[in-house]
Amino acid sequence: MDGMLIHPVSEMPEIYDDKEMLPLSLSQQYNPQFEYTIHTPIVCSGNGLHTGQFINLKLLPAPAGTGIVFYRSDLGNHPIPARYDHVFDTRLSTVIADPKNSEIRISTVEHLMAALTGMQIDNVIIECDGPELPVLDGSAADYVFLLQCAGQRKLQSRAPILKVMQPIRIEEGDCFAELRPSTKPGLFLSVSIDFPAAIIGKQSFDMTLTPENFKREISYCRTFTFKHEIEHLHKMGLARGGSLDNAIVVEDDKVLNPEGLYCTDEFVRHKMLDVIGDLSLLGSRIQGTFVSNKSGHKINNLLLRKLMSQSKAWCYLSDAPYLFSKKSTRHSVYSTL
Ligand SMILES: [Zn+2]
Repeated sequence: MDGMLIHPVSEMPEIYDDKEMLPLSLSQQYNPQFEYTIHTPIVCSGNGLHTGQFINLKLLPAPAGTGIVFYRSDLGNHPIPARYDHVFDTRLSTVIADPKNSEIRISTVEHLMAALTGMQIDNVIIECDGPELPVLDGSAADYVFLLQCAGQRKLQSRAPILKVMQPIRIEEGDCFAELRPSTKPGLFLSVSIDFPAAIIGKQSFDMTLTPENFKREISYCRTFTFKHEIEHLHKMGLARGGSLDNAIVVEDDKVLNPEGLYCTDEFVRHKMLDVIGDLSLLGSRIQGTFVSNKSGHKINNLLLRKLMSQSKAWCYLSDAPYLFSKKSTRHSVYSTL
């Protein structure tokens, strides 16, 4: 857990209808029909990748219908709902911003979002005192550990599940991402990449998203970059917190990290981690199939925007009262918290 500090927080708001508690270690007992939040507040700290700034995060339990909502605690009390339509920038990472003031933004949300979705946490308030989330080791493993420390609480509401009804595709050259209907419950993902560097080359990985699969197959896979790109970013004043401790660094056909790769296809598995984080910005679980080749944060976000703009392409399977209709959003719910 290099670079990560975790502290339990003593106070817990009494906001629950349901006192049932379920530790994450009993993950086989997850009930996919219901929403979950974390059991207890928890904080962690670490350095941001681009600013190099030391960032403190606090995660708080939240009632059903909240979704994942960030607050910049250093900039006042403005909610930044973790939603596809609040994505402000996708060039280096996924950046979300307050829709009313884009200066109030948080970068690199995708790894924490993937951990929350992968571990089936639907509702949480996240306070962050800086402009980007801690990069930790470049994977979601530390965030999974954090969520396991916080524990899990089952809520009484049925989980919001969005069913894909028609195929939706975004294509740019030979890069694409697509969501397709599926008769099976849950989300199946098939992700492919193709890089000229021989150590990466063509890789693909398929997986049905469950907490067990996410933790075992994906969560530990680190982000990666190329040595010449780091030099370029440093010249632009970016990646100040970047090091071999928080990314795989590739030069020609070699990995420069002394520990090497955690698995030969760690690259594509990390891309699936990013996809899971980006898709989580839909604000609900998904029933469907996701297929991509060489997609990134931009294409993933455009896919969600296109899906939600076509009302015949999706429907909700559950009838939780707060679910956004095809005209409204959840915003009115979290603004009353
Ligand atoms: Zn990533």
